Amino acid sequence: MLEGKKALVTGASRGIGRAVAERFLAEGAAVWGVGTKEPADLAERVEQSGGRLHWRSADLSALDGVERLVEELVAESGGFDVLVNNAGITRDNLSLRMSLADFQKVLDLNLSAAFIVARVVARDMIRRRRGSIVNMASVVGIHGNGGQANYAAAKGGLIGVTKSIAAEVASRGVRVNAIAPGFIATDMTAAMTEDAKEKIASAIPLKRLGRPEDVAALAHFLGSDESAYITGQVIPVDGGMFF
Ligand code: NAP
Repeated sequence: MLEGKKALVTGASRGIGRAVAERFLAEGAAVWGVGTKEPADLAERVEQSGGRLHWRSADLSALDGVERLVEELVAESGGFDVLVNNAGITRDNLSLRMSLADFQKVLDLNLSAAFIVARVVARDMIRRRRGSIVNMASVVGIHGNGGQANYAAAKGGLIGVTKSIAAEVASRGVRVNAIAPGFIATDMTAAMTEDAKEKIASAIPLKRLGRPEDVAALAHFLGSDESAYITGQVIPVDGGMFF
């Protein structure tokens, strides 16, 4: 339950972030969602939530503006109890062919922006001596993946950031954990052929791709007081892909 809690969810327009926002609203939270553009069905969603869904369009890869944006959202909300640092992109290519621009672009959003958002929110959580930060990493950040050196660097870096901030803020009552999703069916993975997806699913012990809701369930647990004694952890949601 997140009754009466306030949550900031980045990348809340589609995929995993949207499922997290919907789950949090269903659990009673007020949610501030961020994405590059307003979702087409925003008005309906705000109405369905009874006005508990708030939206801010922003490009978080424009790093210069991120601190101020998050400070504004903290002030507007009165302070967040939960942050889900979820916005992310891929720009896949073999390392020998990857442009430095694509390497940097993925690091900017998936790592640097997430770091800036986390520390602005953490500053306020520390003052209020409570809060839970959930960073959306990836199994690729733990194991690496051919064609994704930029993404692996960013998600591996985010895991390091998670553990480091967790160590810094634990004594102030703030928890920081990371989720490492495996292969989740969203726009990010939609470009693959059905054949390729079937091959991947058959290699996963639970024999299916993950759903955004599978990840949202863990985000809810980590965001809620049910996980009050868990911090500094990286928890996979991968259908058993890597056990
Ligand atoms: P998705 O469907 O592509 O959604 C990405 C979200 O991030 C969208 O809401 C998008 O907003 C937002 N976003 C993208 N660029 C942004 C920017 N510059 N500024 C602000 N928001 C931005 O991706 P997903 O699969 O749900 O992935 C969500 C997170 O889970 C990512 O961090 C991803 O790396 C991670 N993850 C995914 C998988 C998977 O298999 N799908 C596996 C492991 C980890 P707009 O709609 O406005 O562009």
